[in-house]
Amino acid sequence: MPPKNPSEKNLERMWKFAEKYAGKSGTYFSPVDGVTESVVKGLAANMDDIGRPLCPCRFYPDKQEEIKYRTWICACEDMKIYKYCHCLLFTDENGMPITEYLPEDHEGRQAYGEIKDPQPDKGRESAHKAEQREIERKERPS
Ligand code: SF4
Repeated sequence: MPPKNPSEKNLERMWKFAEKYAGKSGTYFSPVDGVTESVVKGLAANMDDIGRPLCPCRFYPDKQEEIKYRTWICACEDMKIYKYCHCLLFTDENGMPITEYLPEDHEGRQAYGEIKDPQPDKGRESAHKAEQREIERKERPS
């Protein structure tokens, strides 16, 4: 059975959030058709299901358990610390994820190499939490 469509209300809410956050973080929407729409739709569906915009591009054994943490609530910690969006919702002008600030051993860095930040003066509002995030990544692989 195909996944049900999210409510109009949350769809609209998540579009507004995505547009606003892209501007604030100095990122772009993917030029590839359908990429942005599918992520926004996934965020809206999670809003409908669990009341929080949990990242739609990850698997969670228990979504209710996961939302006790801030880690994968959009904009997630990786986005706010490293400006890295693995869903490709917030990208550079070419639709590529920004990987410049990721630790060398991060899966995003290994998958894409180094991709520069097109607007280094914007975003990374939680850059000071990088050390804490790397401890969490080891203790609670996520
Ligand atoms: S990777 Fe982070 S910023 Fe990108 S859609 Fe998922 S939660 Fe949002």
